[in-house]
Amino acid sequence: MRRFSYSRPVDAPAAVALLARHANAKFLGGGTNLVDLMREQIETPAMLVDVSGMPVNQIETLANGGLSIGAAVRNTALATHPLVRQRYPVLSQAILCGASGQIRNMATVGGNLMQRTRCPYFYDRSANCNKRQPESGCDAIDGFNRMHAILGASPSCIATHPSDMCVALSALEATVHVHGPLGARAIPFDAFHRLPGSTPAVETDLRSDELITSVEIPSLDVASRSLYRKIRDRASYAFALVSVAAAVSVTDGAIVKARVALGGVAHKPWRAFEAERVLVGASPTANAFRQAAEAELTGARGYGHNDFKIELAKRTLVSVLSELTGTRGAQ
Ligand SMILES: Cc1cc2nc3c(=O)[nH]c(=O)nc-3n(C[C@H](O)[C@H](O)[C@H](O)COP(=O)(O)OP(=O)(O)OC[C@H]3O[C@@H](n4cnc5c(N)ncnc54)[C@H](O)[C@@H]3O)c2cc1C
Repeated sequence: MRRFSYSRPVDAPAAVALLARHANAKFLGGGTNLVDLMREQIETPAMLVDVSGMPVNQIETLANGGLSIGAAVRNTALATHPLVRQRYPVLSQAILCGASGQIRNMATVGGNLMQRTRCPYFYDRSANCNKRQPESGCDAIDGFNRMHAILGASPSCIATHPSDMCVALSALEATVHVHGPLGARAIPFDAFHRLPGSTPAVETDLRSDELITSVEIPSLDVASRSLYRKIRDRASYAFALVSVAAAVSVTDGAIVKARVALGGVAHKPWRAFEAERVLVGASPTANAFRQAAEAELTGARGYGHNDFKIELAKRTLVSVLSELTGTRGAQ
C-alpha cells in the first residue's frame, strides 16, 4: 500500500473543503471497499478524508412522511431500524443479504452507493480493463464472464454493480443528497449510477469534489409489502448473480402500483420500468408476471458464460411477484 495522509473533518463543508485543497484525495467511509482497493494498488489516493464520524449519521422521519438516512449511517443500523423494517422491508432484507455481519457493521450508506465493481478483471492489474485503465480494453467480454451484465452493457465494459442495498433504493425511488463546493443538490436514484457507455471509469453522476450527505426515501404505501430476493452461488458471503427488489399493491383484483428493480444484471441497479408498465392494471397472475419479465428482459444479451442469467432473471422476477401477491401456478 502506498503512503497517504489522513484527516477527520467535523462536518460536510469541512470535508468538501479538505478534498478541494488536496490533489488526489478521497473520502473514506467504513473502508471495507476502498482499503482493499488501496492494498491492491487499484486506487492510490494521497489523502483520505474520513467522513465516517461526521454528524450525518441519523435516520429521521421527514415532514413529507419520507425517511432521511445520513450518509455515515452504518449498514447494520439501517437494516435493523424499526421504521425501515416496518415501512421498507425490502431495504432491510437487501442489506442483510449482503457481505457479512462484521462488514455491515463497518460499511456506511455513502460508501455502499460508491462501492466499485467485483469484476475480477478490474481487480487483476495484469488484465485489460477500461474501468481501471481507460482505453486498455475489456478482457471480460471474451473471458470468464459468468457474473457479468446482461442489460445496458457496452463494448467497453460488461461489469455489474455489486450492491444489494442500492437495488432496494432503486425500487424505492430514493433521492441522493450531495454537497460540493458549489453547494447542495439532489440526484434521483436512477440518475445516480451510470451505464458504462464508452467511459466505464465514470460510474456515477457524483462529481469528484462532491460528498454524499444523505439518502431520502419517499413515503411509499406500496413499500410496506415488499420483498428482496438474491440468487447467488453460496447461501451467504457472495455477490448476486441476479436479485430482485419489488413492491406491489393489488386492489379489486388488479395491480395498482408496482416498483421493481433488478441487481447483478447491469452496470447500475436496474430499475425495471418496462416490467412495472406491464404490471400496472394487470391481474396478478403467473402469466402477467411472465409477460412483465419478458418485457423487461427484451434487450438482454449474454456473453457466453452468463447467458443463463437471462432466464434466471425472468424466473426470479416471476417468483418474487408471485410470493408478494400470493399467486399460485408460477414457476
Ligand atoms: C468480503 C466482502 C463481501 C461483500 N459482499 C457484499 C454483498 O454481498 N453485497 C453488497 O452489496 N456488498 C458487499 N460487499 C461490499 C460492501 O457492501 C461495501 O464494501 C461497503 O458497502 C462499502 O462501504 P464503506 O463505507 O466501507 O465504503 P468505503 O470502502 O469507505 O468507500 C467506498 C467508496 O465510497 C466513497 N465514499 C464513501 N463515503 C462517501 C460519501 N459520503 N460521499 C462520497 N463518496 C463516499 C469512497 O471514497 C470510496 O470510493 C462486500 C464487501 C466485502 C469486503
